[in-house]
Amino acid sequence: MTLPYAEPLTQLDPQPRVIPEPPRVGEPGGDPCGLCGWLSGLDDAADSLPAEDKPLWYDDDWALCRATGVTIPGVVWLTSRAHHDSFADLPDGLARSYGPMVARVERAILALGDIARVHVYRWGDGSAHFHVWFYPRPLGMLEAKREMLAVWANVLPEAPKEVVADAERKIATALATDH
Ligand SMILES: [Zn+2]
Repeated sequence: MTLPYAEPLTQLDPQPRVIPEPPRVGEPGGDPCGLCGWLSGLDDAADSLPAEDKPLWYDDDWALCRATGVTIPGVVWLTSRAHHDSFADLPDGLARSYGPMVARVERAILALGDIARVHVYRWGDGSAHFHVWFYPRPLGMLEAKREMLAVWANVLPEAPKEVVADAERKIATALATDH
């Protein structure tokens, strides 16, 4: 695996620590949680919302969402419908359904074909509303193994919108038929 940059790279020193850290979106003192507003209104507005304003798939507990500026078709993210921060905060029922839910998403992405592995990233540094990212590593893209896939995804050109939309449609269809 390699960084998508030519040598020589110069290693930086760590920055001075910023403590306390600035609040994240959805934390007290931070910007209000946009996910809560969007996801809580889905049931009432589902029929009137255009497809692009709805998650790719959702049930009472989880919503699978499309990303913006996708460079690797099949990148999606899964969020809890309700506002919880991290694994440590998930109610028992959600925590129990998380594993099977992730397995369904992984199967749906793998079914796109030509995917070596589905990476699951949980960072949580941006929004305090629980969400995990799924990044399919294209088959044979050995330079993008492990954490390098996220770095490559940031620098690759944006994929054609119709290719991204086609992958998202297939993932949504696969999820809807895999219980
Ligand atoms: Zn929220």
